[in-house]
This record gives sequence, structure tokens and C-alpha cells, in this order.
Amino acid sequence: MPTRGYAGCSAFLIMGLMVNSLKCWVRKIPMKAIVFYEQGGIDKLRYEEVPVPAIDSSEILVKVKACSVNHLDLRARRDRPEVQPFPHILGSDIAGEVVEVASDVHTVDVGAHVVLSPCIPCEQCPDCLNGDENLCDFQELLGFQTNGGYAEYVKAPAKNAVLISGALGYAEASAIPTAYLTAWHMLVTRAQIRAGDDVLILSAGSGVGSAGLQIAKLCGARVFATASTDKKLERARRMGAELTINYTRTDFSEAIRAETGGRGVDVVFEHVGAATWEQSVASLAKKGRLVTCGVTTGNMGQINIRQMYQKQLTIMGSALGTTSELRTIIRLAEQGKLTPVIDRVLPLRAAAEAHRILEARENFGKICLQPDDIGHTTGE
Ligand SMILES: [Zn+2]
Repeated sequence: MPTRGYAGCSAFLIMGLMVNSLKCWVRKIPMKAIVFYEQGGIDKLRYEEVPVPAIDSSEILVKVKACSVNHLDLRARRDRPEVQPFPHILGSDIAGEVVEVASDVHTVDVGAHVVLSPCIPCEQCPDCLNGDENLCDFQELLGFQTNGGYAEYVKAPAKNAVLISGALGYAEASAIPTAYLTAWHMLVTRAQIRAGDDVLILSAGSGVGSAGLQIAKLCGARVFATASTDKKLERARRMGAELTINYTRTDFSEAIRAETGGRGVDVVFEHVGAATWEQSVASLAKKGRLVTCGVTTGNMGQINIRQMYQKQLTIMGSALGTTSELRTIIRLAEQGKLTPVIDRVLPLRAAAEAHRILEARENFGKICLQPDDIGHTTGE
């Protein structure tokens, strides 16, 4: 009937106007964020009001519920030349609620609880087309070459949204992307860890180290771990490490050889770099695999080439991981098979304190920031 059609049309029009006015409301209201105008020390971080980002046709707007802090954030704040735009908002590991979706987005709805995959690949280069999006030369990282999650709202491509269920809290979800994706790609995809392998996890107290320890245990490996303090070693033992070594007091390669009857380990999980490189290589058994994702103590390391080929060692690099891998990790976390280790949750305004703690390596596991001062806690 014409009248019913008219009424339906009016209702549709009014709803449309309401949605549009809501979008305007979201954009016009400023949000709180941690920004820096130039790179440098912790004092460059400022807690300020900035505009809520406007999304383009393939993006979503997420109300940030938790954002974890990474070592890369420290380097981005200090001097990494790729960082843009300025003033810049850090934060690659983000969990939150979708509050706006663009017209071309049909894969995620307003109200969905999501964690964001941090890598934004070009989706057109040969690496992307081969499914190796983490090898893309044109990829951007959320919070690194875009504004990130040290804020009340963040925008991201809809394809980066991975749904999370109520089984996973926002802080736990935000602790997953960079640390677990990196550790999973290193151990499962690159080193192809097997049940029964002996695995050495370096710096088990770090975000990627604690993730690596859990993934190695989940895969059935026997885990040895290093850390810088006895307290961290105790935490590593509670997480299932068979042997823990304080690397500030002991040559860990000697401790590994002593523990394995001179054999060494099948896999070394490296992310420390120059300071540990030679001990890491020396810890490998015949046909051992060293997989590395980081160089926090320096880029250059030596290797005895003769020993390398005689022992038939494999040295492999690894960088972050794919959204597909992140979906697998989120499923395992929701099933309780992986439990993100959270050192503490701080309010967003305390981002500078989070950077200080991370720089001093006082944490065991991830430090999360939460906007709105949603209850924050201090870990052990
Ligand atoms: Zn690409």
C-alpha cells in the first residue's frame, strides 16, 4: 500500500539521518591520545586531545579498549625514520569495539569486539599474492606508519579486524598480536617445531619470549629459558620451562651443553641480537635451527662458518606473521591453550611510565594501556 510504503521510506530516512548524525558526533568530538611532535626521549610523549580519525571507504573505526606496548614503540618514539605522520600516535596491538564501518565494508559490523592485525599489506605485490603478506615491501604497521592505538579511537582497514569472543578480555586480546604472531611465525611456520624438540627461549620475560615459551610448550617441546633476574626465571619455571638460566651471570651455551649431555638444543629462539648471538649459535645441536626476529642489542653478529656447515645448522629470519596466523592464535587463546602474560594494565595517560618500565626491562609479559582509566592493576 502507498501509505505503508511512504511510512517505511520515512522511517528508513530518519534512521539514515540518525546514523549520519551519529557519525558526525563521533568525528566532531575530540579524543584523548598520547602524541609526540618530534622523536626523542620519554618526555616527548604528551597526553592531549586530538580529532577522532575519519575513515575511508574500506575502513572501520574502533573504540580502543586496550592497547599493548611494544619495544618497537620505544624505537619509533626515539628515532626510527619510517614513523609517520606527525604528530604521531603509537600503538600496534589494539583490541576494542567497532563503532563505525564504511559503506564498502561488509565483513564486520558495528558493535563487534575485535583485535586488529597490526600489518597492513599492499595486497598487490608478488609477495602479497603468494600469501606472504609479512614479506610485503610496501606494508605499513599500525601505529608505526599510521596513527595507532594510544588513543580512545583508531581507524584501520576492515580486513585487519579479527573477531574475539567474550572468552577473551580486551587486555588479553591486545597482548596477543605482535608478540604471539611473531613467536608463532618463528616457531611454527619457520622453525617447524616438533614435539620432543629441545627449544631455548631467550629473554623469556619479554612479550615475545613469554609467547614463545607458551607456544613451544603447546607444541610439545622441552623448553629451556634465559632471563635477567631470578624472579623472571621463577615465572618462566612456573610457565613450564625445564631449565632456566640467568644470562647475566652464566654463559648460557655452556649451561645448555651441560644440561643436554653436550648435545645442544634443536631450536634457539633469538630476538636479542649482538649480545647473545655467539652463545645462541653455540647452543645449537647438530642440524639445529636458529630463528631470529630481532636485534635489540645490535645488528651485527659473527658465526664460525666451518662449525655451521659441519653441524649442518640452519639460520633463519622471521618477521611478524599473517592475519590468518593471528586467527589461529586467537582461537587457541579463546580455548585457553595460550594465555597472554600481562605484567600490568595502566591508564592511557601513563604511557610514559609504561615506556620507562619497558626500557628498564622491569616487566614480565606485556604492559597494556587502557583509555578511560578502566581499572588498572600492577602485576607481580
Ligand atoms: Zn604487498
